[in-house]
Amino acid sequence: MPPSATSPLPTPKTTGAGQAAEVAVEAIAQAASQEVSFSLALSQEQKDIRDWVHGFAAEVVRPAAHEWDEREETPWAIIQEAAKIGLYGLEGMAQFFADPTGLGLPIVNEELFWGDAGIGMSIMGTALAVAAIFGQGTPEQIGEWIPRCFGTAEEVKVAAFCASEPNAGSDISGVRTSAKFDEASDEWVINGQKAWATNGGISDVHVVIASVDRELGARGHAAFIVPMSEAKGISEGSKVSKHGLRASHTADVFLDDARVPGAYVLGGRERLEERLARVREGKRGNSQAAMATFEASRPTVGAQALGIARAAYEYALQYAQEREQFGRKIIENQAIAFTLARMKMEIDAARLLVWRASWMGRNGVPFQNAEGSMSKLKSGEVAVWVTERAIQILGGNGYTREFPVERWHRDAKIYDIFEGTAEIQQLVIARAISGVHVK
Ligand SMILES: Cc1cc2nc3c(=O)[nH]c(=O)nc-3n(C[C@H](O)[C@H](O)[C@H](O)COP(=O)(O)OP(=O)(O)OC[C@H]3O[C@@H](n4cnc5c(N)ncnc54)[C@H](O)[C@@H]3O)c2cc1C
Repeated sequence: MPPSATSPLPTPKTTGAGQAAEVAVEAIAQAASQEVSFSLALSQEQKDIRDWVHGFAAEVVRPAAHEWDEREETPWAIIQEAAKIGLYGLEGMAQFFADPTGLGLPIVNEELFWGDAGIGMSIMGTALAVAAIFGQGTPEQIGEWIPRCFGTAEEVKVAAFCASEPNAGSDISGVRTSAKFDEASDEWVINGQKAWATNGGISDVHVVIASVDRELGARGHAAFIVPMSEAKGISEGSKVSKHGLRASHTADVFLDDARVPGAYVLGGRERLEERLARVREGKRGNSQAAMATFEASRPTVGAQALGIARAAYEYALQYAQEREQFGRKIIENQAIAFTLARMKMEIDAARLLVWRASWMGRNGVPFQNAEGSMSKLKSGEVAVWVTERAIQILGGNGYTREFPVERWHRDAKIYDIFEGTAEIQQLVIARAISGVHVK
């Protein structure tokens, strides 16, 4: 046991093992009465929120999962149910975010995505746009636009965050969408094509990343609010048919001379001009518009992957305890039992990384070793591996759509890809730990 600052462990004198043991026991006893500064125990409030979301996931989300995966449509009725109980909406999101330990959002996401990832993303997809507005908007913009992202329980809305383009995925500096300021009308004129936008085209609020100065690469980007209800020239492109997460809407978004008022750039025009001037002088220009949003959301995205992994692990465990071959339960074979043991261990290990990064993010502890990326990378890989093993444990049943594990495997794969692919996360971690601009 390490000594504490207030009562250092006395150095045992050379009087034999018996006395050293006594000293150790006394130090342990003293430590028990000291204030604890590290704990992994959830508070009662966190447990209550976890159980509440779990109830919704078990009773409303999971029973509907297969249907919405097959229909490949946004489950508006379920988003509305979530809004009615306060799980979807500004108040709920603020409460989860406010948790000073940072664990509110990962706990909620893990439980919800345990129910179903496609429906979960339909409910949580809005959060990416909200995070961009919250992270980069002025207080006035936050007050106006975040409520509009959610709508009301009677008339729910979703929101979209549009960074990626057909030729700008991992390499966000390749964004071609441009925003030009028209002094005469005090408007931004936005042109370009956004790709794979979650909720793209079915949202009112679209947060669009566009280049205001191409020569500055990603540092010349800014984020704009482009509301479908106000801006002419924004339209939905083709909806994407997907491998997994099929209840979540993904589409291209076209911006064709889309005009929005000058005040719709997040952070305001003045701050943008100041930042660009700093960058042009070769100084640092704070965070890049898209990257700032992704860095903050990575642990939460990792928690979503964990929810899928946990669902598959629990299902496979129960199946292995019931299924008999060769006159015994299949879990009595080490090949199955050891796999389940590793599944459980990997999920728990990934959760620790997610919780650490969430705590760091919430408490302003810098991600010096790219801990946010670590949490997302590990969770994505664990989810893909665990769900694949779950199919194996279910055998032929695992491969059919009569059982949910194949859906969980399809859903899990996206966590290796979006919000930074597994390779890009490794790049971020490698650069952070080495200081070398690894390519
Ligand atoms: C379901 C879904 C939802 C999405 N939602 C959104 C959204 O809401 N908003 C949004 O803006 N985007 C969204 N995306 C886009 C997503 O973020 C991108 O697909 C992702 O960033 C990867 O970009 P890409 O597909 O262009 O792959 P590419 O960048 O073309 O990468 C292809 C492969 O090359 C590898 N690679 C690329 N560069 C390097 C390198 N330097 N070193 C090593 N390997 C490299 C990648 O890791 C990957 O394996 C979504 C995508 C999907 C499928």
